[in-house]
Amino acid sequence: MGFTITSRDYVGYLKLAAKKIADNKDYITNLDAITGDGDHWVNINMGFTAMLEAAPELAGLAMDGVFKKIGSIMMSKVGGSSGVLYGGAYMAAAKEVAGKESIGSQELCSCLSAMVNDMMRRGKAEPGFKTMIDALYPAAQAYKDALERGDSDADTLEAVKQAAVSGAESTKSMEAVKGRATYQANKGVGHLDPGAVTMSYQLECLCDYISQNLI
Ligand code: ADP
Ligand code: MG
Repeated sequence: MGFTITSRDYVGYLKLAAKKIADNKDYITNLDAITGDGDHWVNINMGFTAMLEAAPELAGLAMDGVFKKIGSIMMSKVGGSSGVLYGGAYMAAAKEVAGKESIGSQELCSCLSAMVNDMMRRGKAEPGFKTMIDALYPAAQAYKDALERGDSDADTLEAVKQAAVSGAESTKSMEAVKGRATYQANKGVGHLDPGAVTMSYQLECLCDYISQNLI
């Protein structure tokens, strides 16, 4: 009962997410050009390119090592707010699963919570500030709720995915409180936050990967 994620699985997910991000270059660049400085796609894509280059090494690590390595890649290779925020979040996830060769659903849920808590602390941001937190926070919450209800893995992952997607969608009407969209005259109202959209892509791919390959 329940799925298990190994480093090989995580690399499989990273490949799926890297493709989704690469395929949406113009869309994401345009969103950040409207609400920020236009570099969000370049930043996030650079991170995924570096992760894929490190894939053979990642696949040989325990899960905490995978998260630690990704954290350091994001911190060192990715510019902008996203590099620091994802870097810190992955480091927090690594601590959550210290010493674990592989992780189950409960641990994955704890990792998402640890990641969003770290992002909120580091970015001094909360849900509703029109940032990537608006996709991750509801996803982590939906995960906790589903586990509490004892939902099936398939239903749980679907709920997490839907929460991420609608969370990203909800940024459209938000006024930015953090990030570069606060410099815009209308604080980005009427436009999706690019960081929330790329976060929802990653969570979507994670849920899809697990649903299609591990359960
Ligand atoms: P930068 O804003 O430095 O140019 P990016 O373009 O890579 O960095 O990332 C922009 C995204 O980062 C935004 O769309 C938003 O989701 C997220 N973001 C910016 N500032 C914060 C913050 N303080 N807390 C959480 N997320 C933030
Ligand atoms: Mg930017």
